[in-house]
Amino acid sequence: MYIHVKKDILNRDKSAQLFEEAKKLFPGGVNSPVRAFKSVYGPPLFIKKGRGAYIIDEDDNKFLDFCCSWGPLILGHANEKVTSRICSTVVEGTSFGTPTALGNTIGRLILDNNKYIDKLRFVSSGTEAVMSALRLARGYSGKSKIVKFEGCYHGHVDSLLVKAGSGLATFGVSTSAGIPESFINETIVLPLNDLVLLEEAFKANDDIACVIIEPIPANNGLLLQDRNYLVWLRKLCDDYNILLIFDEVISGFRVGYEGAAGYYSIQPDIITYGKIIGGGMPVGAYGASHEIMSHVSPDGNVYQAGTLSANPVAMAAGIATLEQLIEEDFYDNLEAKTLQFVNKIQAHCEAKSYKLQIQSIGSIFWFNFSEHRVMTPDQISSDGIEHFKNLHRYLLDSGIYMGPSGYEVGFVSAAHTPEQLSEAADVIIKGLDLIF
Ligand SMILES: *Cc1c(COP(=O)(O)O)cnc(C)c1O
Repeated sequence: MYIHVKKDILNRDKSAQLFEEAKKLFPGGVNSPVRAFKSVYGPPLFIKKGRGAYIIDEDDNKFLDFCCSWGPLILGHANEKVTSRICSTVVEGTSFGTPTALGNTIGRLILDNNKYIDKLRFVSSGTEAVMSALRLARGYSGKSKIVKFEGCYHGHVDSLLVKAGSGLATFGVSTSAGIPESFINETIVLPLNDLVLLEEAFKANDDIACVIIEPIPANNGLLLQDRNYLVWLRKLCDDYNILLIFDEVISGFRVGYEGAAGYYSIQPDIITYGKIIGGGMPVGAYGASHEIMSHVSPDGNVYQAGTLSANPVAMAAGIATLEQLIEEDFYDNLEAKTLQFVNKIQAHCEAKSYKLQIQSIGSIFWFNFSEHRVMTPDQISSDGIEHFKNLHRYLLDSGIYMGPSGYEVGFVSAAHTPEQLSEAADVIIKGLDLIF
């Protein structure tokens, strides 16, 4: 098999050297764990530059990028309008800690074009958005427990770093050290795609403030749910007077300008955003109805603040991004390109009877090495994750960069041309022929 006969042809000398140095500076040599390439071959690449659909590493290797900074770069790298807006803003000063007109501009750009939220608050990351949304749900409802689903990721919020324990009705166990038992006890973890267990949990607990879900779960493979399930989830939350939070840090502005709420036409109570909303700068946000948002400080008694919140440079990047996303046909074009790419690979897999279903929605795709669509994390094949590891190595050697784990989804940006995508599909097909 390929992995036994082939040596790395990619020269990663500089990256390897920088990684050795970084290990002395940062835990595991990185500032976010998955960047360490623990689940794929070789040292991580140190990237020095990005242009359009490409990134270039310190050894001057060039890659077609399907990671796109884990989702934010829906316009590709160094988009001209985004960088020039950042530059013209930054020379006027980087931060004032006051309201700015730029904040209003992006606020209007979002709220005038999204019927699912009336008001929003900017923060500086997806994690912070989720953390704030949970506090708001609890402050608004006066209740304390939260329901989350196995297979959804919501950032590194203490009370959400929890997975199901043995026995689904019992409380979960933490997935990180350093989380007090008492925090875990406030979180109920349930399987996706299961309304029976959900209603049982609702019946058994009268202290549930909210349910949080990635309506398009895209952090543990792409575990696409049926719209019907989400509609019923909405209905059950209404029946039991429980708030529904859509964590749209990935899906927001990705599957459409109104995110998953718009894609499925479902009204959540609170929505969290991140990634794309900041156009590559550190931005998050949470939004809801006027009534719910009136509980946020200083209007209400749910405290939440941030020194660099709505930072003008970040707002400028967000504005320049969103102005392009709102153009007619933006999402249709992106989705059509992605489908063409995915279908080309899928057709080959079918002709060869390879066990691979590429799951995709909008411009998100995921290599599901199995014969069936998967909707819960336990259905993900561990053989498949091993296949991905081999494929990843082949693709790096061939100039294609994917997120460094079989559980990570890929993103197509507006900068990827149909020609680049068609060539990439050919390379991926060659890679699959080698690993199967
Ligand atoms: C990325 C992500 C987060 C965390 O955002 P950060 O900016 O990394 O803190 C939260 N929720 C979802 C759905 C995400 O994809």
